[in-house]
Amino acid sequence: RKAELKQLIDQPSLSSDGRQVELAANIGSVEDVQKALDNGAEGIGLFRTEFLYMGRSALPTEEEQFKVYQYVLEKMNGKPVVIRTLDIGGDKKLPYMKLPEESNPFLGLRALRLCLDRQDLFRTQLRALLRASAYGQLKIMFPMIAVVEELWEAKRLLQEETEKLLGEGVTVAGHIEVGMMIEVPAAALAADSFAKDVDFFSIGTNDLIQYTMAADRMNETVAYLYQPSHPAILRLIDMVIRAAEREGKWVGMCGEMAGDETAIPLLLGLGLHEFSMSAGSILPARALIGKLPQTEWADHARKALAMRSQAEVKQFVQQLTRSEA
Ligand code: PEP
Ligand code: MG
Repeated sequence: RKAELKQLIDQPSLSSDGRQVELAANIGSVEDVQKALDNGAEGIGLFRTEFLYMGRSALPTEEEQFKVYQYVLEKMNGKPVVIRTLDIGGDKKLPYMKLPEESNPFLGLRALRLCLDRQDLFRTQLRALLRASAYGQLKIMFPMIAVVEELWEAKRLLQEETEKLLGEGVTVAGHIEVGMMIEVPAAALAADSFAKDVDFFSIGTNDLIQYTMAADRMNETVAYLYQPSHPAILRLIDMVIRAAEREGKWVGMCGEMAGDETAIPLLLGLGLHEFSMSAGSILPARALIGKLPQTEWADHARKALAMRSQAEVKQFVQQLTRSEA
């Protein structure tokens, strides 16, 4: 079985009826890039930049960040690389940054909210990203957006830094795709209001499930509510994909759900374009997708949307995949 999977390393990701999707890797450090390539990643779907800021005593400089982004882009050799701007706050704290104590950090000043509050820090990261864009196919992604004004403000700052760099004679790629994560239920429900102003969405199911179910993703006592294939979650995903399709934009997923064997057939059926996961899940996912007829799963997924529980959805998917195998 291992040898079988190895043969898929440089193959495209095709369903049994020929629908092509992209299987990408989530990375959290520079070392992860080689692992992604060794496992047949067609791109990086999520580069978590937090590691650059953690385990040290001061903020990383623009130059330090630039070197890391440039390395990853060059190493990926023209394949798409989605780099997410800083997602700190929530459970992730920086010892050298004084932030107000919050009683609900996951509902507080985290990710883009923090970056819009601390624009100095955000602008430094944007400049490093823009300078690195000349070395590969960079896509920039903003986390934790709830309302459209946050997207507009982030894009305005990006535009300002672009103009400054160009004014300084620095090379910046001519077109950089800009997207946002969908991980707040409000953003999923109102995805149509964002779709015009982004190039892509990437659904962050780790947080989207947590916020939809009102269940802390780290809290074992409510882990039973962590249900990726619950119809409530599937309906949100469906809304996001439909809203993007109407504007001709692509949709990825970079939460754990993208590598989940029960979820993959449904996500393929709903029309997800890009699946980003930990490197080790890519080849098994490619093998699984190769057995699935996309158009039939589009019908199955419609039925799953109308079901009443995750248990019902799981049983339905398992029965179908067993009969296809
Ligand atoms: C997510 O929320 O699904 C996600 C990919 O982001 P993180 O796990 O880093 O919060
Ligand atoms: Mg998240």
